Amino acid sequence: MQNLKNYEIFLENITSDFNKLFYNQKEFIYCKEGCSYCCERGDFPISQIEYDYMSLGFEKLDETSKNIIKQNIKNLKNSNKESYVCPYLINHRCSIYNNRPIVCRTFGLLTEDVKGNPSFPFCASMGLNYSKFYDEKTKHLSINLSEYNGINNLPKIFCLSNKVVINLPLAKKLNIDFGEQKRMIDFL
Ligand code: SF4
Repeated sequence: MQNLKNYEIFLENITSDFNKLFYNQKEFIYCKEGCSYCCERGDFPISQIEYDYMSLGFEKLDETSKNIIKQNIKNLKNSNKESYVCPYLINHRCSIYNNRPIVCRTFGLLTEDVKGNPSFPFCASMGLNYSKFYDEKTKHLSINLSEYNGINNLPKIFCLSNKVVINLPLAKKLNIDFGEQKRMIDFL
């Protein structure tokens, strides 16, 4: 129980930090309520404690929502897909929003991959987030395009992979045991 309480404190802190990033980069962000592209394609890596916290959110739902999610999970398991629509998504909204895992809190941000290269949210190719300097042909950041669009300062990019986030000093300070890491579907 203490582990979950500490995880909640950790979540509050990192969510606040992510929100600052969204705010500081708002000129490049087109996220809005009801947009669920990020939840419709992915493998959603999470850890045991994130899944436990999601389950607490699930338990608070009404029976109709629970049944929809259970059916979504059943369909998902049968389809055996690598990339899938999150089963907690109902009518384009996250049914467990306050209990959503860490990766979901970074959806829409430009991040850095393990090799240090910019990793764009896929909605960049739809003319949405960071599209002002995303080159659809090369699938990379384009300085020419950023100059063309009058961007003086490109945003700071951070690696926000689960591995990096769960090893932040605050997680160590709170002594959080994240448990096993795997794809969301493998917890369901
Ligand atoms: S848990 Fe919620 S925010 Fe995360 S992918 Fe699923 S529906 Fe989207």
